[in-house]
Amino acid sequence: MKSLFVSHGAPNLVLHDTEARNFLRDYGLGGETPRAILVVSAHFTHAGPALSAGEHPEMIYDFGGFEPELRTLIYPAPGAPDVAAEAARLLEVAGHPAVLVDRGFDHGTWVPLMLMCPQADIPVVQLSVDPRKGPAEHWKLGRALAPLAESGMLIVGSGAATHNLQELFGRGYPLDAAAPEWVRAFGDWLDEKIVEGDLESLENYRRKGPFGAENHPTEEHLLPLFVALGAAGEGARGRRIHTSRQYGVLMMDAYAFEAAA
Ligand code: ZN
Repeated sequence: MKSLFVSHGAPNLVLHDTEARNFLRDYGLGGETPRAILVVSAHFTHAGPALSAGEHPEMIYDFGGFEPELRTLIYPAPGAPDVAAEAARLLEVAGHPAVLVDRGFDHGTWVPLMLMCPQADIPVVQLSVDPRKGPAEHWKLGRALAPLAESGMLIVGSGAATHNLQELFGRGYPLDAAAPEWVRAFGDWLDEKIVEGDLESLENYRRKGPFGAENHPTEEHLLPLFVALGAAGEGARGRRIHTSRQYGVLMMDAYAFEAAA
């Protein structure tokens, strides 16, 4: 099964008619019916890998502002304690011991899944990111989890292709603002390196990519991409399955990764 990276944008993505929302709704799960979905969420940060292992995850409304109705939305998918345990075993064997926690769905998880899998009938496990560890470490987590993808699980990294919130709030870009050049340049570079399967450049995006650090002042929104890429295996490449932007500085790009032929 391929793995995915999606940009979840602002929590109100589900409310407004935008290209990114329509893409996620139309793409769904890419025609697959996975036995479970593992979401690597930029909003689940933890020192060392953590997996949500509750049977009935609650909702976490982990944001301020935005429309009050967002706090009434519920994504009722079940958790999958058995899958969480399976993932923890794989991580452990690969030298990345993980903890199992009882944790609800944060908006990095429920925003895209509400659009991609509105029937909420597939169990969901969340994996954390560790902002103190870089892209290479997250790629290794993905490599360790590849057997899950091979056994019918969909691995979805949920973050943002570009994510400078200081710029976003500082300048007050409207929802449909055009992307400034420094944002577009990084988005295009990311696409190019993913298509080429240039892992070395990708892992060093802050140094090698145009405006890498400006587009990701903190790394948590790009780290899920590396887990999804690693899960597709050594030498995997990806293709951009969507591109658009929100508020000028949030590229809403999505990628599908497939194992090297
Ligand atoms: Zn986010």
